[in-house]
Amino acid sequence: MQTQLPESLLATDRGQRAQTILRSCVHCGFCNATCPTYQLFGDELDGPRGRIYQIKSFLETGEATLRINTHLDRCLTCRSCETTCPSGVAYGELLEIARESLPDDRVWWRRLLIWGLKAVVPRRQLLRPVAALGNLMKPLLPGSLAQKVPPMRVADPLRLGTHPRKVIVLQGCVQSVSTPEVNTHLARLLDARGIEVLDVRAETCCGSLALHLGDEPAAIGAMVGNVRALAGYLDSVEAVISTASGCGVTVQDYGRHLAGTAEAAEAESVAKKTLDVATFLAQSGLRFNRSREEKRIAWHTPCTLQHGQRSRGVVEGLLRAAGYELTPVADPHLCCGSAGTYSILQPDTAQALRDRKLDSLEGGNPELIATANIGCQLHLASAAGVPVVHWLQLLK
Ligand code: SF4
Ligand code: SF4
Repeated sequence: MQTQLPESLLATDRGQRAQTILRSCVHCGFCNATCPTYQLFGDELDGPRGRIYQIKSFLETGEATLRINTHLDRCLTCRSCETTCPSGVAYGELLEIARESLPDDRVWWRRLLIWGLKAVVPRRQLLRPVAALGNLMKPLLPGSLAQKVPPMRVADPLRLGTHPRKVIVLQGCVQSVSTPEVNTHLARLLDARGIEVLDVRAETCCGSLALHLGDEPAAIGAMVGNVRALAGYLDSVEAVISTASGCGVTVQDYGRHLAGTAEAAEAESVAKKTLDVATFLAQSGLRFNRSREEKRIAWHTPCTLQHGQRSRGVVEGLLRAAGYELTPVADPHLCCGSAGTYSILQPDTAQALRDRKLDSLEGGNPELIATANIGCQLHLASAAGVPVVHWLQLLK
């Protein structure tokens, strides 16, 4: 694709990167075939190729219309288009550049909602009381709003041993409030196999929420905080483990995000040491068994695992080795509609994608649905006919 970006933009690293990405697109349109929003709306402007054109036009002219924000806001950032693209177009990175540069001309209530999400969700100390209040008021809320209130649970206290082999398990934000039992279950599994989980209290939200909402300073602030919290432990641990694939994909990209900052080298080290829990368990060769009566599982691969981390088949291998039967699932590459805060900001589209995904997942009559990201888990559970769990909870 030919570009004519202004000299002022080309004088920046961001402008150079945008030009490289734009020029790598050959307009073939293969990506549209696997884009969930293109499939849903049937509009070129709601597919990756059309969004790339709109970003190009905005970066060349500086003219942003409400229309561009509307079509970019409808993008799930699922990155299915990146998996499909034969030219390796880094669509997600281009979208980040656009979101950081676009003026915010959304209506006031939408801006307020985004501000509220950025203020509350990444802060566990705030999210906990807000979730507790939301759960108390749930019976009084309209159904669609009640569905958005995350459950709140407190994990059982852990009494585990110390071991020479050590790892860090990222706590994150929403998962630590809504399903803290996932990480405590992992800590017990690892403890029983001679691996200790270190408690790094200063670690917080990975920054992905702010990043997807176009707030780069807040995202960078969260990333720097985490790098400082984790860097001192890197020599004493085998890995920094992520049990929420949405957090893992962001932390694995800290090196790029913090390039050129004072924390660049440490960020690169944190990123290199961060593994999805499935990768860590598969590489370490640990053995597991089934932990429940249910045997037939429908596996939902989060986009952040399959398109972001490019990890495919690893969880499936571990579940099969533990004795589970995986039921067939049609169109596994498609997003379930959760996509971070998307299910709150684009509820109708998110619901349509969720219902379509549940049809695929439940088509093989599973006893449970398993996934690897807290957002997908809560979103699917809001309408699923069978329980939706984190896949780790199926191991013992
Ligand atoms: S598949 Fe890749 S090269 Fe083709 S239009 Fe989409 S982004 Fe561009
Ligand atoms: S990230 Fe997902 S929703 Fe957005 S353009 Fe790519 S495939 Fe479509």
